[in-house]
Amino acid sequence: MQNHSTAPAPTAASPPALIDIGINLGHDSYDADRDAVLARAAAAGVVQMLVTGSSLEGSRHAIALAQQHPGLLFATAGVHPHHAAELTAARAAELKELARAPEVVAVGECGLDYFRDFAPRAAQRQAFHLQLELARTLGKPVFLHQRDSHADFLAILREHGLGHTGVAHCFTGKRPELHAYLELGLAIGITGWICDERRGAHLLPLMREIPQARLLLETDGPYLLPRDLEPKPATRRNEPAYLPHIAATVAGARGEALETLARSSTLAARTLFKLPEPPKAATM
Ligand SMILES: [Zn+2]
Repeated sequence: MQNHSTAPAPTAASPPALIDIGINLGHDSYDADRDAVLARAAAAGVVQMLVTGSSLEGSRHAIALAQQHPGLLFATAGVHPHHAAELTAARAAELKELARAPEVVAVGECGLDYFRDFAPRAAQRQAFHLQLELARTLGKPVFLHQRDSHADFLAILREHGLGHTGVAHCFTGKRPELHAYLELGLAIGITGWICDERRGAHLLPLMREIPQARLLLETDGPYLLPRDLEPKPATRRNEPAYLPHIAATVAGARGEALETLARSSTLAARTLFKLPEPPKAATM
């Protein structure tokens, strides 16, 4: 059982509306209490969420969740570089079908990960090319993952040109990487990594360099529980209800009021992913 008392109490009657653009809500750590997770998200002001699809199976699950909660949950459909080997020519058609679904607002997560190298690099590059093409065909933005592969990642994105938009999700890089992504026209997804004083402090001064219209917020739950969150849930599981905590850190780093950042990042997410206004129940 999860401890419900760990969700942050809303500080005002209606906390500022936020959108979690990256939550792995299909993860089995949410199986026992997914509805409670969504209720805590709503209480914290998280009005819409993008459920990350990172494999064919995971994308199917993300779409199913979005269908169960229309207007509140949306899905991405894609194959994470860790799973790149599953994206054979035969299964590429399967991904195309999934990505076509109306609940799917972005293709991904896709990209390159040379940190863990769970899939051969050639397979990763091939899967990345394929998904960039798919996004262009469907006219949907891309949800991008990159780790320890900046040069190849950038080269492939440049090769595909500026014909489509997307987000560099869970940005943890340094200034040159940030500006390379901004020059490509990408939005930047900031997670609770920024709340980690050991490995995320370098992100704080970069926050002012991201234009309002390109700054998105995400938990990447169940991963990346903000390190400075108090009290910490016993499970160490991250969830959308902690998004205001991340937002407050980012707003502080930008010298903005939380409400200002909430308004701009929510508008930015809604614009990039073409999201409708949230259903009334979610805004209560
Ligand atoms: Zn990722």
